[in-house]
Amino acid sequence: MSAKTEKYAGERIKTEDLRKGRVPVERWKPKIRYAWNTGTAMSRFLKELKQGRIIARKCNICGRIMVPPRMYCELCFRPTDEWVYVKDTGIINTYSISYLAADAKRLKEPILIAIIELDGASKGMGIFHLIGEAKKKNINFGMRVKAVWKPRRERIGAITDIRYFKPMEV
Ligand SMILES: [Zn+2]
Repeated sequence: MSAKTEKYAGERIKTEDLRKGRVPVERWKPKIRYAWNTGTAMSRFLKELKQGRIIARKCNICGRIMVPPRMYCELCFRPTDEWVYVKDTGIINTYSISYLAADAKRLKEPILIAIIELDGASKGMGIFHLIGEAKKKNINFGMRVKAVWKPRRERIGAITDIRYFKPMEV
């Protein structure tokens, strides 16, 4: 113990001290509601998901069709030009077998996470999603997949409006 703490020894506050009001206590409920703006491109993307559609943005200079959409082309240094619908089918660009859930809990059965290049979007443009109705040994790069949507009434305008992508029949 240093000379300073010996001089001002103090006393540790116990939970009981707080409960019994032996020390000043202030209680309040924080207002932790918040909102944020998803921006022009992402707002439209999410609204379209609710309708069961996937929308992208096209840059007319480089010709790229970008999904998720963005309002600016980072290659051409200019705003993108138009909205384009892409399909809810595509190929697995890359994937990972994860034994960890989103909350970092260990899983017995792994989840399959993939980057999916959607039909109609430019090569290399992909969305991050789950693969379902597939065994880890059966999935592969370049495999064709299709979105499995939630029923319309359950959609909220989120990427989870698509439950997962499943392998397409060959
Ligand atoms: Zn461009």
